[in-house]
Amino acid sequence: GYQRVLEENRKLYNQVQDLKGNIRVYCRVRPCHQKQGSVSKIDEGSISLLVPSKNGKDGKKTFTFNRCFGPNSTQAEVFADTQPLIRSVLDGYNVCIFAYGQTGSGKTHTMSGPNNPDEETVGVNYRALRDLFLISEQRKDTIHYEIRVQMLEIYNETVRDLLSADDANLVPVQSTADVLSLMDLGFKNRAVSATAMNDRSSRSHSCLTVHVHGKDLTSGKTIRGSIHLVDLAGSERVDKSEVTGDRLKEAQHINKSLAALGDVISSLAQKQSHVPYRNSKLTQLLQDSLGGQAKTLMFVHIAPEQDAVVESISTLKFAERVSTIELGAAKVNKDSSDVKELKEQIASLKAALAQKD
Ligand code: ADP
Ligand code: MG
Repeated sequence: GYQRVLEENRKLYNQVQDLKGNIRVYCRVRPCHQKQGSVSKIDEGSISLLVPSKNGKDGKKTFTFNRCFGPNSTQAEVFADTQPLIRSVLDGYNVCIFAYGQTGSGKTHTMSGPNNPDEETVGVNYRALRDLFLISEQRKDTIHYEIRVQMLEIYNETVRDLLSADDANLVPVQSTADVLSLMDLGFKNRAVSATAMNDRSSRSHSCLTVHVHGKDLTSGKTIRGSIHLVDLAGSERVDKSEVTGDRLKEAQHINKSLAALGDVISSLAQKQSHVPYRNSKLTQLLQDSLGGQAKTLMFVHIAPEQDAVVESISTLKFAERVSTIELGAAKVNKDSSDVKELKEQIASLKAALAQKD
């Protein structure tokens, strides 16, 4: 009866998600510190930037994404579109969510929220975990789930476990509160090593990974899923003439790993047969969770101030490169749990796919 409907609903959800493609790119613009910023227009699926040119005539560049969030978007709105991904983790999918952008563009705000966040301002990490526990609780009569977490930092191509001295330590957790205290520990451990360089957090990638192991109580079947929540190092290019030594080495490591991530996602988006996972620690670490049936969501962040426009353009170009959608072809499909509507969506998406063949 009801369980069957739920089960069918769940499968349809995943089918719709699969048909929509496994790589999504969302753009988010944080509030501007100036009266007149570089963003001239932003709607649900596209963003336009005013680009100053040398001859004094300003140009306009428009970029299209699966979804765009303006400066007034709330944490809850941003997460709403991400929610179906969380559900799919419990259905046995591997998911990666990345926050990309220059330092100060809002990556940590999206993933973690501000310092000491409240109920409204908590970020994707907390909301994802809260949903994981909530849904696993809802399914407890049919599936028994075990949830374990890991926190890693990648700095200068070296991976460090932030929860213990051991490598790749998975800590069992029972509740969102457990995860919060582990995250606190992770952030403290991260801070300890950062005494010499107080903004090291912007020059390293941090990755919160949640592994889900489910056992179907009737069939005995096991389900394995995972989600990686990655706050990437700042994407800004440093002026090679101005930095030397350690700072230059850091910058080169960051450029290399972000480029490698871009290469991997873009070759997956283009369905190329060779995917260059081996070119960075980050892509090696996430290899099993990128490609195949795995789902990827990239939040690209824009700092809307005029003096950041060159970085913003470079961020949007990176985002466009890893995105599967064609320019101007973005269509926003609202998710719905209504089975009938989902069936209609699947039918029309299948028809569209058939026409493409
Ligand atoms: P990053 O992690 O990319 O370096 P942060 O997330 O630390 O950037 O954001 C820089 C500053 O802007 C912080 O003070 C943060 O609270 C603020 N901020 C970022 N995004 C938003 C947003 N969407 N709404 C309000 N404030 C934001
Ligand atoms: Mg940050």
